Amino acid sequence: MARVHNWQLGREMTYTYDAAYPRAQFAFVFNINRCIACQSCTMACKSTWTFSKGQEHMWWANVETKPYGGYPMFWDMKILELLERANPDGQRWTGAPAGDPRGPWGRFEGQTIFEAPRMLTPDSARVLGYLPADDEWNSPNIYEDNPVGERGKPREYHRTGESLPEHKTWFFYLARICNHCQYPACLAACPRKAIYKRPEDGIVLIDQAECRGYRKCVEACPYKKSMYRGNTRVSEKCVACYPRVEGRDPESGGVPLETRCMAACIGQIRLQGLVRLNPDGTWAEDRQNPLYYLVHVAKVALPLYPQFGTEPNGYYIPPRWVPRPYLRQMFGPGVDAALERYEKPDRELTAVLQLFRRSNKIIFGYKVVEGPKVYEGTLRGRKVTVHDDTVIAYGRRGEELFRTKVEEPIHVRSSRHANSI
Ligand code: SF4
Ligand code: SF4
Repeated sequence: MARVHNWQLGREMTYTYDAAYPRAQFAFVFNINRCIACQSCTMACKSTWTFSKGQEHMWWANVETKPYGGYPMFWDMKILELLERANPDGQRWTGAPAGDPRGPWGRFEGQTIFEAPRMLTPDSARVLGYLPADDEWNSPNIYEDNPVGERGKPREYHRTGESLPEHKTWFFYLARICNHCQYPACLAACPRKAIYKRPEDGIVLIDQAECRGYRKCVEACPYKKSMYRGNTRVSEKCVACYPRVEGRDPESGGVPLETRCMAACIGQIRLQGLVRLNPDGTWAEDRQNPLYYLVHVAKVALPLYPQFGTEPNGYYIPPRWVPRPYLRQMFGPGVDAALERYEKPDRELTAVLQLFRRSNKIIFGYKVVEGPKVYEGTLRGRKVTVHDDTVIAYGRRGEELFRTKVEEPIHVRSSRHANSI
């Protein structure tokens, strides 16, 4: 076992291989507050990559209703339970979130999935995980919109539902794809070394010719984003639409495009890009890259279950209405500060949030041009001022991709038009 630095955990950890970082890293931010569970992303991925025989159960991109939904069923509860069993009451963070790029959310003192196996299983085990049963992959959208559980029965949802207003309920939609982790558990567990991380963009792929279908990756991935295909007897996973990211999609005109699931997003929750890395694997300062800004400057976007230890490259702006202990377990100790900033956005954050889904092209930089004040008022007892600033997005070579404004333009149609009745 090697020692590597996991900046999301603010400490070193054990990993199967020595550290080796790509030059740039595929990463994304999802704003949960905007997701409407329309499943356009899910179907965009399905119709592109997993529409063939033997792939019926495969949803590389999915959207599940939390807290009860999950694909495969109860994937996160099961991993959390395993970790808790391995390290009872020890899965804790210390230190205040301070913004240090080598540990921005303090220090995780618990055990990751790479450290816990030594406490549970023989020395030969590389990663703590489990293999979902076949029927757990059957229903990618089970418990949709279901906010209540069966009383006294863990992992069961309420058959009839509660009657309001007796019970305060909540749920939210969690959109997920493979996180193209910095320390992939799938890669660590593969005895064939069939899984690799590309040096140019950090995308994690399975070499189909090398895979023998041992399903060690399926067992090890804590996010359960590596899947086994019965009719070919090899495993498959999200490929991050790499031809699009490389600019080789026929519609791209040679410039890098966002993935299909990002491009299809109706709710405009998704922003995907490439971030530059330092030699030690931390994000290189790139102040005008919108992903860098959202994660490291505005600090509103947080990794999904950072305590698993894979250093996932999917970041989420947490939902405002969900109990904080639940969110802290899911996104770590940065939740409270992130929501404080998101609920009171400054001018720059307001402008950057307009970049989501204005184009399918990957944004490498942005600039905000100040505009006039268009609103002043109070919201929940605090003063709110809105400016109609313009945000300009730039591509890889510094070319302008588009510009958009904070205030959405209003088009007034005449009362008589082509399809008036
Ligand atoms: S999310 Fe899972 S499948 Fe994707 S890179 Fe991480 S460990 Fe591998
Ligand atoms: S397309 Fe966007 S809004 Fe619709 S379910 Fe997917 S992430 Fe949510």
